Amino acid sequence: MTNYMEATKYSIGVDLGGTDIKAGLVSSAGDVSCRVVVPTDVETGGPKVVATRIAEAVRQVLVKAETVDSPITTARESASDTEALEVGVGLGSPGLIIAETGVVHFSPNFPGWSDIPLVTYVNTELSKLHVRKPVADINKQYTPVLRGMDNDVNAMTLGELHHGAGVGYTNLVALTLGTGVGGGVVINGEVYHGSQNTAGELGHTVVEPNGRYCGCGNQGCLEAYAGAKNIVERVQEKIETGRNTILTTATKNSTALTPRTIAAAAQAGDKLAIEIFAETGRYIGIALTSIAHILNPQIAIIGGGVAEAGESLLFEPIRAELSKRAMDIPSQMKIVKAHLGNDAGIVGAAMLAF
Ligand SMILES: [Zn+2]
Repeated sequence: MTNYMEATKYSIGVDLGGTDIKAGLVSSAGDVSCRVVVPTDVETGGPKVVATRIAEAVRQVLVKAETVDSPITTARESASDTEALEVGVGLGSPGLIIAETGVVHFSPNFPGWSDIPLVTYVNTELSKLHVRKPVADINKQYTPVLRGMDNDVNAMTLGELHHGAGVGYTNLVALTLGTGVGGGVVINGEVYHGSQNTAGELGHTVVEPNGRYCGCGNQGCLEAYAGAKNIVERVQEKIETGRNTILTTATKNSTALTPRTIAAAAQAGDKLAIEIFAETGRYIGIALTSIAHILNPQIAIIGGGVAEAGESLLFEPIRAELSKRAMDIPSQMKIVKAHLGNDAGIVGAAMLAF
C-alpha cells in the first residue's frame, strides 16, 4: 500500500461541530480544496451515527477530489493499478479529548457522551468506504485512515501555528471568541495538553472575582464577558437599565442582536456599543496579562466571530490593557488576529494527520 500522504503531502481535515461536520482536502502547504459540509445528525443517534457522518464527509471529499480537477488526482494516477492509496485524516472535536487514545471524554456539544472511542468508531466506518475513480482504473481505490484527533480549539491552534498568524513562532497562545471562549497553548512548537488533557482553557481565566456567572460554574471567567452570547447579554442588560443606543430597535428581535450588529453600531459611533467592546477588550487584556506572565509566549492569536470587530474596537483596548498591567518583557507579547478564518478548523485537523 502506498503511503498516500507521504507521496503527495495531502490529508483530509474534519472539523466536527454540534450541527455540521466541515471537511476538506488540505495540502502540506495549508491550501484547502474540495470542501464539504454534512449535518452531524447528533439528535438521531449516538456516537456511532456521528462516526458514520464523519466517514460520509470524508467520502464526499474524496468523491469531489475525483470529479473536480483536484491536485491529488495526479498522485493517484501515478500509482500502480492495483494499489490502494492511503489518505490520512485528522479530526478536531469539541470537548475534552484524550488525544493519545482517541477518546472523547466529554463534550458539551454531544450530551450523554462519556469516554467514547471515537477514533476507533470512525476508522471502522472508514474501512467500509470504497472510493474509486468511477471510470477506467477501478482498482485505484482510496483507503482513508483517521490518524489523529484533538480538541477543536487545539486543532485550530495547530492550524494557525503552521499556516496562519503563528508561522515563524514556537511559543504562542490562541483564543477563539465564539459562542464560548476557547484556548490553545503551544510550547516549543507543540500543543500543550497538560497532565490530563485539560490544558489551554484560557476562556476560564478569572478576570473579575465576583463577576458574572460562567457556564463552567465559576464566577467572573473571561468567557462570561467575551463569549458572543455574553456580549449580547451585557448589551441587553445595559439597554434594560435605560441606556440610550441605536441597538434598542434590534432587541425587539433578539436574533438581530449579535456581536456583528453591535460592532456595526460601534462603527456608527454608538456609545454603548463602543463601551461594550472596550470593556470586552479590557477583560481579554487582563486575562492575557496573566497568561503572558505564566507562559511568556511570543504571540497571542485571537480568532472567532467576535474578533471580526477588528483593530480599533477590540485589539487596541486589549493591547492597552496588557501594556498597562504586564511587566516589561511579558508586555512585549504580540497580539494579532487569526489568519485562517473559517478554514482554521479544517486546516488544523488535517495537521493532526501529517
Ligand atoms: Zn468558566
